[in-house]
Amino acid sequence: MKNFHSLCMVNGSWVRSSDEKTFEIANPATKAPLSSVPALTSSDVIMAVDNSAKAFETWKNMPARTRSDILISIANLLTERLEEFASTITSEQGKPLSEARGEVMYAAHYFRWFSEEAVRINGDIIPADSPTKRILVLKQPIGLVAAITPWNFPLAMLARKAAAALAAGCSFIAKPAPETPLTALALGGLALEAGLPAGVFNVVTGDAEMIGEIFMSSPLVKKVTFTGSTEVGKILIRKSAETVKKLTLELGGNAPFIVNEDADLEKAIEGAIYGKFRNAGQTCVCVNRFLVHKKVVEDFTTMLSARIDKLVVGNGLNPDSDVGPLISQEAHAKVSRLVEMAKQMGASIIPSACAIPNGSTFFTPTIVANVKPEMQIWHEEIFGPVCALATFSNDEEAITLANDTQYGLAAYIYSKDLSRAMVMSERLEFGMVGINDTAISSVQAPFGGIKQSGFGREGSKYGIDEYLVLKYLSVQM
Ligand code: NAP
Repeated sequence: MKNFHSLCMVNGSWVRSSDEKTFEIANPATKAPLSSVPALTSSDVIMAVDNSAKAFETWKNMPARTRSDILISIANLLTERLEEFASTITSEQGKPLSEARGEVMYAAHYFRWFSEEAVRINGDIIPADSPTKRILVLKQPIGLVAAITPWNFPLAMLARKAAAALAAGCSFIAKPAPETPLTALALGGLALEAGLPAGVFNVVTGDAEMIGEIFMSSPLVKKVTFTGSTEVGKILIRKSAETVKKLTLELGGNAPFIVNEDADLEKAIEGAIYGKFRNAGQTCVCVNRFLVHKKVVEDFTTMLSARIDKLVVGNGLNPDSDVGPLISQEAHAKVSRLVEMAKQMGASIIPSACAIPNGSTFFTPTIVANVKPEMQIWHEEIFGPVCALATFSNDEEAITLANDTQYGLAAYIYSKDLSRAMVMSERLEFGMVGINDTAISSVQAPFGGIKQSGFGREGSKYGIDEYLVLKYLSVQM
């Protein structure tokens, strides 16, 4: 059996909980136990925060080039250990190995990208009114950053945050999701090996509310960056008031996928498969609502159904699998409930012909047609391999339906008329719009949402600003 990390990374050392308590991690496809990790006590976490805050003093004073070189080493080590990290991700999270390999490379790209940004954190000199005055603007690291991450991308969600924070000169403490801490712990070991000074990158595991409370109330933590549900994001916003903490929130989504009557349906189907079935439908930018023009809905549904039938559902460690299990029994029950409620309210269910392996967390890829805005499936993140289909008659109606959600993360439009698609995309209330494209996540682009999908951006030239503060010097000569 593969050896997984089973201790937390704190101040450059592997540590257990001071009361020796642990919790178990299992493979969602097989339920086989993988490892156990520490359930740290509150005093363990407080000590970890103290040490991380001290490490900030060392890290921020290192030359930017040295910080940059260490980030490149992390990227290189991740690339060298592609298979090892990919199999850890698949083992604890369930996604197919090919997707896990993509996640490792995506994470490595963030370290490489931000290694390049680390040496270009330039300030400004601004002309003043008086000839004897000078105005200088400095960009300084905000301080210790705490990150709370979800289970759906155990490495990428952490890398997007850590790479930018470390490049800015911040120290970092992360609490990964309890379902998938093994990848985060492995990254902790790798970061140390790459030359990060002790205490600059820490990973703590244990009770979310307790750790969240310590992060939010500690004056030593200057910034909290969170990826997860809107519900928990709102709790963190409330708690941030206590210390007026700076936040980045990457929250839930409810992405529409608009298929205009002039769309290239073959391309739309390929985009739909990637945008819906990646990670078994468990991504924040996954298509949640297909809005298809009435003139093409029949063709689109027939083609989509035929393509879905070809998907292989199975254990992610099997190289043939396209769709892995859902993360848990609860997740499976939630998706089943959304489909069942839609059916009771008049939707038509088109199950696929995909063979489903034994094991209760595998979900049959399914189309739910004739979905209406009064159904829960319209408003909630499905987070499963289910295509909810509704129709529209004109651009105006498509935009109104697409914007009918509290979320504003990602949206997609398929049309051969780029001008029309551009005009429509400008009216969509989402932070990211894919035009004839569902592969929208890339290191060069600002990832993030509006409305209740949160605020702040990750990646791109904007991402590092989340971890910097401006200081202005007014100099009288
Ligand atoms: P979640 O339930 O909000 O959990 C996310 C993280 O927050 C976990 O580590 C969780 O730990 C922790 N947490 C829960 N309650 C907390 C509290 N009171 N204080 C501090 N931490 C707390 O979300 P999830 O189910 O893991 O992930 C799925 C969600 O993430 C979806 O809504 C998805 O759209 C969103 N997501 C968004 C993005 C984006 O970039 N916008 C990317 C990926 C995922 P415990 O599990 O131990 O409670």
